[in-house]
Amino acid sequence: MLSRPDQNGVRIDPEVRSVVSGIGWPAIGADAAAHLQALLFQMERSQWLPEESLRERQFGQLKLLLRHAGSTVPHYAEMLRGIDTDGFDRDSFSALPLLSRKMLQSGFDSLQSTAVPPGHGTVVQSQSSGSTGMPVRFLQTAVTQFFWNALTVREHLWQQRDFSGKLAAIRIKVNEGSWPDWGLPVAALFRTGPGATLNVRTDVERQLAWLVREDPDYLITHASNLHALAELSLKQGVRLPRLRQARTYSEALRPDLRETVRAAWGVQIADGYSCEEAGNIALQCPRHEHYHIQSENLLVEILDEAGRPCAPGETGRVVITTLHNFAMPLIRYELGDYAEVGEPCECGRGLPVLTRILGRRRNMVVLPDGRRHWPSMPSAMWHAVAPIEQFQVTQTGIGSLEVKYVMGRPLSQEEIAGLEQAVAERFSHAFDIFWQRVDAIERGQGGKYEDFISLLA
Ligand SMILES: [Zn+2]
Repeated sequence: MLSRPDQNGVRIDPEVRSVVSGIGWPAIGADAAAHLQALLFQMERSQWLPEESLRERQFGQLKLLLRHAGSTVPHYAEMLRGIDTDGFDRDSFSALPLLSRKMLQSGFDSLQSTAVPPGHGTVVQSQSSGSTGMPVRFLQTAVTQFFWNALTVREHLWQQRDFSGKLAAIRIKVNEGSWPDWGLPVAALFRTGPGATLNVRTDVERQLAWLVREDPDYLITHASNLHALAELSLKQGVRLPRLRQARTYSEALRPDLRETVRAAWGVQIADGYSCEEAGNIALQCPRHEHYHIQSENLLVEILDEAGRPCAPGETGRVVITTLHNFAMPLIRYELGDYAEVGEPCECGRGLPVLTRILGRRRNMVVLPDGRRHWPSMPSAMWHAVAPIEQFQVTQTGIGSLEVKYVMGRPLSQEEIAGLEQAVAERFSHAFDIFWQRVDAIERGQGGKYEDFISLLA
């Protein structure tokens, strides 16, 4: 499972961490690590199953979940009354109503299981940041955390990271620190090099100075933060000589980010699509820039506005069903994100493909004629006119935008005229724009940064 040829045909063998004194090879891992290894062993095989076989296994697991939900979760007991869940098929599944974020917010009590099987371990209540300001509460179990960990390790293995290197993480909920290893879950399984952490709210200049000092092999951070770091590196001519790859998560990738990072440091990005309620939803293919849905852990539907499944090339709403959360099953839960469906991948994995993750409905601009789209505002568009360091655009009315920007001086009238023309072209409409220079633009709850928000969504 763990020996894979890399792009150059060299076999990479991460060193399993042994817990028995004197036994180094083959190593004997800790009990908890052995469970993780056993799951990874199964998933190493399941990823190659044809999509149809994966779907069959998902439905087998789904029936177990529905039986549990129908008998112990009040909301689903009501919904599934009179339905034979054992004879469940794709059509009967598609006929179930969607669960919205609002319903999860208001229906917390009725969505809890009254009898979580003991084998599922400790039940923990968590809260997502809720980008609309309204947090979403949900329950997780030791089992859901276990699957989350397995997929986190799978991502490392897919990307063939050299665990002997140094990993720097700039994220929320961490303080500045140096660590002997990469942290859990990967350090439970393998010997790794050191880790270093910094909080994502740290000033970008300080972050870059820290990165230069740490000189990591890998960097994991939010996409918007990576963008700011790469741009500052380009501006200051700073290189990160050891860096081999950047890993992003939590936010939709702006289309120009991969190119900016290549220009700054000569490395590629591996992106992942996750949510707090369900963990990893889709991970970037080891051979392509698109994503594979993590079918072993959740069932993902991409639906058009009429509720029909989207075909390859089409963009629709992301609806997920968690297959292993027996404390609070989320069945056909509409996340509020949009994604584009891809063709099957030539890498051979049967895990379905998402070509792009497009963010939320509130990140779409609404035109006066009612059309909506995700506006593309690459840095090059701004930099061609003025040395803007940071921006955030808010649609405040049907024909109006507010642009906050960070720059050493106010924009001139000419620059404003130039930018208004560029924005009109990008947005397909000449909006009235209110320009506001600010000292800094803060991240929202959960550390997320959105460069476009429509208040009309
Ligand atoms: Zn692939």
